[in-house]
Amino acid sequence: MDKSPYEILFEPVKIGPKTTKNRFYQVPHCNGMGHRWPKSMAEMRKIKAEGGWGVVCTEECEIHASSDLSSGALMRLWDDSDIPTHARMVENVQSHDALAGIQLVHNGYSTSNRFSRIPPIAPSARSARYDDPLQARAMDKQDIKNLRQWHRQAAQRAITAGYDIIYVYAGHNLTLLMHFLSSRYNQRTDEYGGSLKNRTRLIKEILEETKEIADDKAAVAFRFAVDEGMGKGGISACEEGRDVVEMLADLPDLWDVNISDWSNDSLTSRFGAEGHQETYIDFVKKVTNKPVVGVGRFTSPDTMVSQIRRGVLDLIGAARPSIADPFLPHKIKQDRMDEIRECIGCNICTSGDMLSVPIRCTQNPTMGEEWRKGWHPEDIEPAGSDDNFLIVGGGPAGLECALALAKRGYDVVVAEKNDVTGGRLVREATLPGFAEWRRVIDHRTYMLSQKANVNIYLNSELGAQDIMDYGFSHVVVATGSQWRTDGVGRKNHFPIEISDVALFSPEQIMDGILPSGPVVIFDDDHYYLASALAELLHDKGVEVTFVTPSDKVASWTENTLEQHMIQAGLLKRGIRIICNHSIAAVKQGKFILKNTYTGMEEVIEGRGFIPVTSRLSNDGLYQTLMIGQDELEGSGIKSVTLIGDSFMPSTIAAAVYHGHLFARQVDNPKDLWTEFKRENI
Ligand code: ADP
Ligand code: SF4
Repeated sequence: MDKSPYEILFEPVKIGPKTTKNRFYQVPHCNGMGHRWPKSMAEMRKIKAEGGWGVVCTEECEIHASSDLSSGALMRLWDDSDIPTHARMVENVQSHDALAGIQLVHNGYSTSNRFSRIPPIAPSARSARYDDPLQARAMDKQDIKNLRQWHRQAAQRAITAGYDIIYVYAGHNLTLLMHFLSSRYNQRTDEYGGSLKNRTRLIKEILEETKEIADDKAAVAFRFAVDEGMGKGGISACEEGRDVVEMLADLPDLWDVNISDWSNDSLTSRFGAEGHQETYIDFVKKVTNKPVVGVGRFTSPDTMVSQIRRGVLDLIGAARPSIADPFLPHKIKQDRMDEIRECIGCNICTSGDMLSVPIRCTQNPTMGEEWRKGWHPEDIEPAGSDDNFLIVGGGPAGLECALALAKRGYDVVVAEKNDVTGGRLVREATLPGFAEWRRVIDHRTYMLSQKANVNIYLNSELGAQDIMDYGFSHVVVATGSQWRTDGVGRKNHFPIEISDVALFSPEQIMDGILPSGPVVIFDDDHYYLASALAELLHDKGVEVTFVTPSDKVASWTENTLEQHMIQAGLLKRGIRIICNHSIAAVKQGKFILKNTYTGMEEVIEGRGFIPVTSRLSNDGLYQTLMIGQDELEGSGIKSVTLIGDSFMPSTIAAAVYHGHLFARQVDNPKDLWTEFKRENI
């Protein structure tokens, strides 16, 4: 048999005293669970190890209470009482022959220590990073000694917990070591400030001390942002970033390199492609003899192989691809590449950390549910009966529901009224920067095409009578939603007066129906769509004014790390942005805006109006079926369930989750939504 071109990905790599079984490396990533939901966190990591990742790391782990990221939920090693939580995670990871890594961190002025109430510390005095009304104090020599001591103690605890790899962390400019390194934050005049050598001193000391503690019991990794993507004034791969790598070249056992800040590192697909960090980090391997790991939203095995063969990386780092598909390595190994659930780069996963709730993922509905619901990304309970299912609607909810039911062994029919499956994504994936989102559909359509127990019928708009005539055991209505065009949303509780203006729904714009004159987009949704429509129209030569009651464009996208990029994109295009205003009425080509603070009115002009405010569930079919309850029973239908956007318009992640949830629990009499374990610790 021919050698697989991907065999190189399964070669072992020596990392200091440890050897990883392959090149698949789950780099540290936050998950909103951390010390608050430790069992959930440990089970999630276990599944990654089971899926074949050679190394599985924690998220940030605070080494001391003066780096208290409350109200976030990260890991902690403040004292010995935290060790058992870590030991559980280590045991889980090692039980599948993977190495367990821990990312030790002190976040300096990036933590306001809201729980511990310890004054934050920084190389030089400055305001705390977030808007809390407090300042970080400049560290004196004793503080620096203390910090080194805390790091040593945390490293010792990490060894006790059994970790194989211990991180010294100066990736992302949130970290205290990065603050020492950067002249933006470090204006000291002693031996820890001034020259680059001085600014690197603390990193070097901590690396040496961590190596001493680790001895031969663990490897020491250095995670370092070689570039901040800000040119002059920041660490950059052509200047200081490179100099630091040269200075410390062979000191760590492993270089984990990236670009800062987190939004650049976890860049969404709207703003960057797979492997976008390569040009920043590719010098590192030429400077050090130690192995190098880096990330790039790698989901293509060919890209991975190319990274190794071209000498860019030794280990394929992944956070998001391992979230979307914890079994990615196994699928490559078993030549099941077509089955990889590729990350779409939407960053719904980062919203868990940003909002301090357990992680969720658009592509992988089991993410974050491994412990509390006992869900596994690949395994699912066999069918509990011979029942069959009719799913009406082939959008994200309907397709995920069909796939999960089919995996269970049920016979499934999907009826879709359009000539393609995909629902809302058929349109949305055509928006500029959203092409990768199609993967939600492509993955499910492919997987369903491999199942003998599923039939998908296109061009099949079903009515209530059709459904009753077919007589399936269960009917799932996944008919989606549509955008309102009456201005009702968060600000306007009732339809607004709209006259003498060309009114467009978001769907019409995505279908290519373009306004002929200046348009006003009213964003009371605050996620991505309104800004994407504004870009689309502007780029097609339509003059756009963007009005929002929020104080910024697309405010919810702060949780997906994109807000600043989206607003910059609109500003760079010269799109007029009016914040803190709702639209009270549109008449005779005049838009009556209302200031959200004062209620004062302002008038602007435009010929077209696109409200992006809220959606209406397409639940008419369901309601009709429910009216004919007796008839339903007579036709042998045991249940009719509304799922996805037709139940509650929300994110694609929520629709996929709901489709999956239904399929898991359809033959379980317990409540669909509330059936989960809690960590009452
Ligand atoms: P969700 O995100 O909940 O999956 P979508 O709006 O993306 O919702 O998808 C809903 C799908 O349902 C669309 O593809 C739509 O064409 C389809 N649909 C709506 N009504 C019917 C119907 N009566 N019969 C068949 N398909 C329908
Ligand atoms: Fe990828 Fe989106 Fe899942 Fe995050 S939520 S792992 S970006 S698919």
